[in-house]
Amino acid sequence: MNKDLQHFITQFPVTEHTKRFLAQKQQMYIGGEFCSAQSGNVYEVIEPCTAGLLAQVPDASIADVDLAVAAAKSSFTDSPWSRMKPNERERLLLRLADVIEQHSQTLAELESLDAGKAISGCKAVDIDGSIDVLRYMAGWSTKIAGSTKNVSVEGDHFAYTLKQPVGVVAAIVPWNWPFTMAIWKMAAPLALGCTIVLKPSPLTPLSMLYFAELCQQAGIPKGVVNIVTGSSVEVGSHLVSHPDVDKVSFTGSTQVGKLVGQAAMQNITPVTLELGGKSPMVVFNDADIDKVVAATQQSIFFNTGQVCSAGSRLYVQKELYPQVVDAVVQRVQAMNIGMSLDPNCDVGPVISKTQLDTVLSYIEKGKQEGAKVVCGGAALDGQGYYLQPTVFADCHNDMEIVQKEIFGPVLVVIPFDSEEQALSLANDNIYGLAASVFTQDISRAQRMIKNLEAGTVWVNTHDLVDSCTPFGGVKQSGFGKDLGVEQLAYFLKTKAVWIEV
Ligand code: NAD
Repeated sequence: MNKDLQHFITQFPVTEHTKRFLAQKQQMYIGGEFCSAQSGNVYEVIEPCTAGLLAQVPDASIADVDLAVAAAKSSFTDSPWSRMKPNERERLLLRLADVIEQHSQTLAELESLDAGKAISGCKAVDIDGSIDVLRYMAGWSTKIAGSTKNVSVEGDHFAYTLKQPVGVVAAIVPWNWPFTMAIWKMAAPLALGCTIVLKPSPLTPLSMLYFAELCQQAGIPKGVVNIVTGSSVEVGSHLVSHPDVDKVSFTGSTQVGKLVGQAAMQNITPVTLELGGKSPMVVFNDADIDKVVAATQQSIFFNTGQVCSAGSRLYVQKELYPQVVDAVVQRVQAMNIGMSLDPNCDVGPVISKTQLDTVLSYIEKGKQEGAKVVCGGAALDGQGYYLQPTVFADCHNDMEIVQKEIFGPVLVVIPFDSEEQALSLANDNIYGLAASVFTQDISRAQRMIKNLEAGTVWVNTHDLVDSCTPFGGVKQSGFGKDLGVEQLAYFLKTKAVWIEV
């Protein structure tokens, strides 16, 4: 552990479990055993607040992926998991949720250190929210049913559908919600009896390695959950094109999602793609400004703007435009930029030097394009990957900063005249993950809900998610859904059965 990190942890005390975990040798989890990469290689995980070394983790190769897939396959075929009584599987997943809850502070601390997430939101949203998802999905174990069919063919037949777990699921997740996304990917298939090979982002593997310990503690059978860490692209690409994988569930960028989709198609493996976004917030003259400002802060500055559904494009009707820009800037300037473990931190660093450079290059581009910086616009001096929360006003849809997913704390504000124009501007983007509308006019809200091209539409709020509401985009934000009853279908095979009576 480097000196800065040591100081950081001393300044903001962490649990004994966190200390113990950070001090131990990190290992992957394959077939119920903790193990190093077969090559013995490791790679370094960097902590974004200090840019110091946080941990060394196994650097898997494709041989390790093969082992993990074999473990998941044999566990699906031979172990009791898929044939277990549904109520027993439900009970085990609920026990796992309880064990996670007992360790929620440690998980939040690891996540906060690893991803630079402000600890307050990290505990309440990332970890507690994930426990809720696991419990919700556990309940579905006992509620899966096919249907009987009223067939018209000649003779006497009984026809019905049988719902079966799809098999081995390859789950790949990004760094912005390492624990949350992993639980979103795993909870539904586990409830149905599938087995999993999960690959975290190379930048943020720690909460998943800790989770592996909790799986063992909760008595999840060997091989049901396998966690493979690796720094090379081959680890992910080999996993999604593996012939023994029955379903690919991917969350990440649109660019990589396209490659994942192509790789999965080599074996006609079904794939769910949860990809990027550039979500519009559309504010009409009759909107409640306090709600707009609260939602803007929550959606584009929470998690330092590294949120797929962030309301990164703010369209404001002309009469309200100056007031909204002023109020948003005031709120942004009151936010506390700080070390992620500080309970008073509102905005932490971005994840990495690469991400910092990417966001800064978009900020430069915005300036060149003629957008007006009304707050922020630069990196912060000192260690770590910090930048000022930034607001660009007077933007228009032709600008790159309005069209591209920046994935940092950068808001673009665009004025509009009419409802028709607002709709056309909001839909003028390759992404379609989410959108929100701020108005008191219920008829206008209904028209916007119908016509916005987005997987989720919020009214007078932004970025609410619940275990029971499906989440997933349209257009280049992907296809398939996470969460809700809707997610289950993606991990079930439907067999039509005919019996001549
Ligand atoms: P990324 O696409 O670079 O990486 C995502 C994951 O894919 C990582 O684990 C990475 O190691 C792996 N990967 C990279 N190349 C691969 C390949 N060829 N084959 C298989 N796997 C590969 O994304 P990121 O930078 O980690 O995350 C940010 C992106 O994720 C943003 O675009 C964001 O919008 C998106 N995201 C989407 C959602 C959603 O639900 N729609 C949620 C969170 C994040």
